[in-house]
Amino acid sequence: MIQEIDQEYIAHTYARFPVTFVRGEGALLYDEHEKQYIDMGAGIAVNTFGAADAVWREAVASQLGKLQHTSNLYYTEPCAKLAEALCRRTGLKRVFFANSGAEANECAIKAARKYAFMKYGDESHATIITLKHSFHGRTITTLAATGQDAFHTCFGPFTEGFAYADPEELESLEKIASANNCCAVLFELVQGEGGVRPLSLPYIEEIKRICEKYGLLMMIDEVQTGNGRTGSLYCYEQYGLSPDVVTTAKGLGGGLPLGAVLFGERTKDVYDPGSHGSTFGGNPVCCAGALSILDRLDDALFAEVKRKGELIKDLLSDSDEVTEITGLGLMMGIKTKRPAKEVAMACLEKGVLVLTAKDKIRLVPPLIISDEQIKEAIDILKETLKENSAN
Ligand SMILES: *Cc1c(COP(=O)(O)O)cnc(C)c1O
Repeated sequence: MIQEIDQEYIAHTYARFPVTFVRGEGALLYDEHEKQYIDMGAGIAVNTFGAADAVWREAVASQLGKLQHTSNLYYTEPCAKLAEALCRRTGLKRVFFANSGAEANECAIKAARKYAFMKYGDESHATIITLKHSFHGRTITTLAATGQDAFHTCFGPFTEGFAYADPEELESLEKIASANNCCAVLFELVQGEGGVRPLSLPYIEEIKRICEKYGLLMMIDEVQTGNGRTGSLYCYEQYGLSPDVVTTAKGLGGGLPLGAVLFGERTKDVYDPGSHGSTFGGNPVCCAGALSILDRLDDALFAEVKRKGELIKDLLSDSDEVTEITGLGLMMGIKTKRPAKEVAMACLEKGVLVLTAKDKIRLVPPLIISDEQIKEAIDILKETLKENSAN
């Protein structure tokens, strides 16, 4: 019934799985027939502490009972406190709140352009380098920033001023930086939608070197890798980087829409009143929820995230059906002999939710998933992989 109404009245932008969820608890979800599923997706890396997390719910409900929204012409406590916490934890200096990953990246892209304008006095250094296989969002500009041809059909003309470097070619960055008037490099440390592909250490070092040599802003898209997902608050910490701009969203709000752009010393004063804004950005309910998430993203949890990531790898290591495992912490890509889409559907039938990214199975479970739930889910995943060779 619901599925028929949805099919009739919702624009067909999603190829939905044939399941309707009604409630959840931690890493478990239940459909309308009370069938239970182990959630290895957390939305898409969104429900950081799982479904209906009590602490988050209390923070959200409490703020909801006081005030659901004011315009950004006024001060409210949750967004100020969240920005302070993000800056204290990262050493970055100021925050802009948006409502999604794409919006956070739009804000970062505008900031890079304005930074260059202020530096050169004109729009001569507008080019932003992004990487092939990247994903930065669905707006016309963030699609332009996305380095995948598949996203560049039928929606042109796109925003100009992006050049794509190949993360498999060490020299590609310098070629682009020396041939164009650039202002920034925007990249993911683990390319999520592109197939859970971690950048290599030498390539990360090269980005750092090129940013220094050409005076480019280092802008890291942590929409998916951030907020504890990869085993540290933000993934860049694991590589000792000092980014000028960090964008994030997905897991930050714990399930409510919230994006953020964190500005470093060089970029913190790029925006002045009127130069950027958002009606809903920094919503007090979303920010109150996010504060309750951030409070609990600590070293003990990060150690658990890393350990559970290793546990998943161990459990998969004896499967002949798995050809490659990539990723960091609880953000994993698994290449399987059986086509990923087929595996995801077979897992769903057996009560396990997995995602795909390109030709891989993608696992981004809630960070609080238990070892038992992981073991059960991976057992079922391996079962569905074996059905391949049985056919
Ligand atoms: C999901 C994602 C985005 C887009 O986020 P939305 O909230 O869907 O706009 C941007 N960048 C990366 C790295 C992402 O994973």
